[in-house]
Amino acid sequence: MPECGQKDKGGGKPVGQYLEAHLSFCSGRDYGPYMLIARHLREGSIRVASVVDDELVDLDTDHDDLPQLLAAGVTLEELALGARTALSDAHLLAPVGAPPAILAVGLNYRAHAEEGGREVPTTPVIFTKHHNCIIGPGAGIHIPTIAPEKVDYEGELAIVIGKRCRHVPRDRAREVIAGYTVMNDVSVRDWQRASPTMLMGKSWDTHGPMGPWVATSDSIDPHNLQLTTRVNGEIRQDSNTDDLIFDCFDIVHHLSSAFTLEAGTVIATGTPAGVGLYWDPPKMLVEGDEVSITIEGIGTLTNPVISEPDTQLL
Ligand code: MG
Repeated sequence: MPECGQKDKGGGKPVGQYLEAHLSFCSGRDYGPYMLIARHLREGSIRVASVVDDELVDLDTDHDDLPQLLAAGVTLEELALGARTALSDAHLLAPVGAPPAILAVGLNYRAHAEEGGREVPTTPVIFTKHHNCIIGPGAGIHIPTIAPEKVDYEGELAIVIGKRCRHVPRDRAREVIAGYTVMNDVSVRDWQRASPTMLMGKSWDTHGPMGPWVATSDSIDPHNLQLTTRVNGEIRQDSNTDDLIFDCFDIVHHLSSAFTLEAGTVIATGTPAGVGLYWDPPKMLVEGDEVSITIEGIGTLTNPVISEPDTQLL
């Protein structure tokens, strides 16, 4: 394996031999072998690709989204490599375009629960987001025309389920997790607070940015990753997933106790302290902002904030 920062172009060998991607987020920690799986638009087609050094290398599959690819039981490491695209030229899409479900955990960092004056939960607080909220890296987060005042960011580690599962014991949860990605659980706070359930504040179009890719779980310890959210370069959230109240394995166990989780399901695990609402004065998102969320070992998800275009459909 090359060292961090070294180049190794792959040379047409199976992608499994090139599991490490050596990008700017290399922190010097040894994560061992893993893959970064992206989706991108190339010549009008959506392709699933592996990130190798500073290139996307298409994987030889007819599937253009992870839920179908994962459900088919394909071993990603064994797929042949195809066309290459420089990352600097790539049009990245959300790594999971149409998950069977997007589940989310609220108040799952102690400091975030406390900054909102809330009790630290003893049972996971679960809600859902509609898949229409998903956008990829670089796509615009809308400031809603009818609710522009309380739009907020939430940097989160997200789990991608790798296989259909039910009643998963905590100590076997790793077996059903395909990998992890970065998610921004964008929230319209006034709509979130206007009813007992959070959904109407959590599922506005474009309010589920995801990416830049999925890091497969082989060697990543999801419970010791630094998570940093920046808005226009200013650090707003700076925490570590070791502060999760219910960790990834607890969450998979809890959810699958009640219902079957399908391959490709995305689970946002909660946000740490530092959301815009609880700064004094509050720092809500406005048009022209840029939100970047970095999770160690995965990468950085960056999205601009834009005005909602005329999206009326009748
Ligand atoms: Mg959240």
